[in-house]
Amino acid sequence: MTAGTAGDEPDLITLGRRIRHARTGAGLTLDRLGERVDAAPSLLSLIENGRREPKLSLLRSIAAALGLSLNELLDPEPPSRRAALEIALDRHQRGPLFAGLGLPAVKPSQKLATPVLEQLVGLHDELARRAEEAIATPEEARRANTELRLERQARDNYFPQFEQLAEDLVRDAGYTGGALTHRTVAVLAERLGFTILHVNDLPRSARSVTDLRNGRIYLPPASVPGGHGLRSLALQAIAHRVLEHERPRSYAEFLRQRVEITYFAAACLVPQFVAVPFLEERKRERDLAVEDFRDAFGVTHEAAAMRLTNLATVKLGIPLHFLRVGDDGALFRGYENDGLRFPQDPTGAIEGQLLCRRWAAREAFDRRDVATEYYQYTDTPTGTYWCSTQTGSGDTGAFSITVGVPYAHAKWFRGRDTRVRKVSTCPDPACCVRPAPELAERWSGEAWPSARMHQQVLAALPRGAFPGVDDAEVYAFLDRHAPE
Ligand SMILES: [Zn+2]
Repeated sequence: MTAGTAGDEPDLITLGRRIRHARTGAGLTLDRLGERVDAAPSLLSLIENGRREPKLSLLRSIAAALGLSLNELLDPEPPSRRAALEIALDRHQRGPLFAGLGLPAVKPSQKLATPVLEQLVGLHDELARRAEEAIATPEEARRANTELRLERQARDNYFPQFEQLAEDLVRDAGYTGGALTHRTVAVLAERLGFTILHVNDLPRSARSVTDLRNGRIYLPPASVPGGHGLRSLALQAIAHRVLEHERPRSYAEFLRQRVEITYFAAACLVPQFVAVPFLEERKRERDLAVEDFRDAFGVTHEAAAMRLTNLATVKLGIPLHFLRVGDDGALFRGYENDGLRFPQDPTGAIEGQLLCRRWAAREAFDRRDVATEYYQYTDTPTGTYWCSTQTGSGDTGAFSITVGVPYAHAKWFRGRDTRVRKVSTCPDPACCVRPAPELAERWSGEAWPSARMHQQVLAALPRGAFPGVDDAEVYAFLDRHAPE
């Protein structure tokens, strides 16, 4: 059934069209047919327009009067292409999508030229398709994302096959320790048959483009000389090849590939054969800190925190959680295998959910000194957690990166001696959602804030062979840069 139709209405429309088609084909006016079947022309008109359901006895009379069998009259197929278009236009104009536009309806009468009808129906079909896509894509994305997160949680976010692959490749390229240099990344790419090129005109929908025919990886220019992001982008582009990815056929597959290339790049930038001994030593010293891990490998705080979730549980025996939160309090990305309960929507998705105000991830925005990590203990309904939060700002505004562990594991971390302790009883609305009673009494009915729109966490994506990427733009780009 087409979107925007209700109940069995479409059958009545088709039936009406079939009657009108047969009647005009027989050269009868509504009046003449009315005389033959003993019915008012106005009633027949309502039936032909699909607005009145005829009684079976009347239907039999109509069929007989038009020289048809009852079955022929009730055939669900429109009698002609023209009739099919008229029915489609009628259906669309009766739907809520059209009603919401506030436009006048067009009567699909004989006077309407067929090309005009074709175009109107084509436009309506496209409008319906876009409306469905706008709902379906974020929904599908949220479900797929949740599935992946739960799968990672079940494996303690550790994927040995990617670890090994990354280790072999960086060792081969000459890496021995510390930060992976751009030079080493270039060598690694060369060994796989790729040259890395920086260009100013990458398609806006792509982060990188790989020319498989000519063995080239196109990346944006470094906005900051030596910027760290480019190593990761290059490694992610390489990862698609190394991991033998095929064109994603679904959003879920697209997201899975994204998770895999991100993991692979992180495992190259912070290889486990160097990272694990580093972390083990810091644990022995009871001085684990994301900031040191970050600095030792020259990655962002977020990348270091994420990487810690790969290694901490399997290699150090520490369950933990990770959060990236906007200054509006909305969760952008999260992971846990330590029992901390994230707020979630009915599909199980956590992205975009507002976090408890008492959590370190949000409390950290309020302090003055933002240069170092903020430490806090939080009592929650699932236990007490120790958290380390670093705030920063990026293209989408201020955000905080948090790594936290259950109370029993705080002893391995720098900052365990903090005196800051908060209590969170969320999802109990009395925790931080409901305003304080005395304030509510003073301001209820006297306040009129204007909402800031939340950033779309998973917006509808353009169509194309690769979700989110504009094929035409990508191909034109590759053509522009292809060697002679
Ligand atoms: Zn709360």
